[in-house]
Amino acid sequence: MFAGDIVPYGAGVPLLLLDLDNTLLDRAGPFRAWGEDFLREVGAPAEDIDWLLDVDADGLTDRWDVAEALRDRYGLRISAIDIVEALHDGIVANTRLDPMVACALKIAGDAGWVPVVVTNGAERQQEAKIRRTGLDQYLADWVISEEAGVSKPNPRIFAIGAGRARMRLAGAWMIGDSPEADIGGANGLGLRSVWLHRGRRWTEQRYAPTYTADGPIAALAAVLSG
Ligand SMILES: [Mg+2]
Repeated sequence: MFAGDIVPYGAGVPLLLLDLDNTLLDRAGPFRAWGEDFLREVGAPAEDIDWLLDVDADGLTDRWDVAEALRDRYGLRISAIDIVEALHDGIVANTRLDPMVACALKIAGDAGWVPVVVTNGAERQQEAKIRRTGLDQYLADWVISEEAGVSKPNPRIFAIGAGRARMRLAGAWMIGDSPEADIGGANGLGLRSVWLHRGRRWTEQRYAPTYTADGPIAALAAVLSG
């Protein structure tokens, strides 16, 4: 390696936009853990977890619709709001920050990158996950769709995220697992991106990520190496 290659950070804008759910923090595991407990409590068969995972669609389904689906299927008398609250609390309680992901974020921050989370979702839940896991220590800031009033892939939410770190969007990278929300959003702004495949194949024809990675650590390594 040439000496000049060691200091690549001055060249681009070191803004690093990051998705939260199933990118920096596992959501699938905590949702399944909550769902298994919930089904047990209402006396549903354990194998109904597959139905519940389908309904949730990896968090894409509105949580109120998930609550209504549970009420309908099991004839529950608990209100939808109580189910939504239990879902929030259960996911937050089961969410952990992988220390190796924290370490990779620390390395990126030490190298001059400015990490900002851009996430869709409910403000209370997303903020609780960011703070209670300690992820906030590794971030410059974050933006949550509910409080921003706009969701990924709308370019506006990425601009808000950049603005919170007082940075320009041009030259930024986006890391995320959603083809449409994360990679489509980045593509719409001309940003480079890393897609976390999570065992899926890329099928979108209109655009593609700059890189594909098997997890956040590999994704951060790809961005840091340019
Ligand atoms: Mg995600």
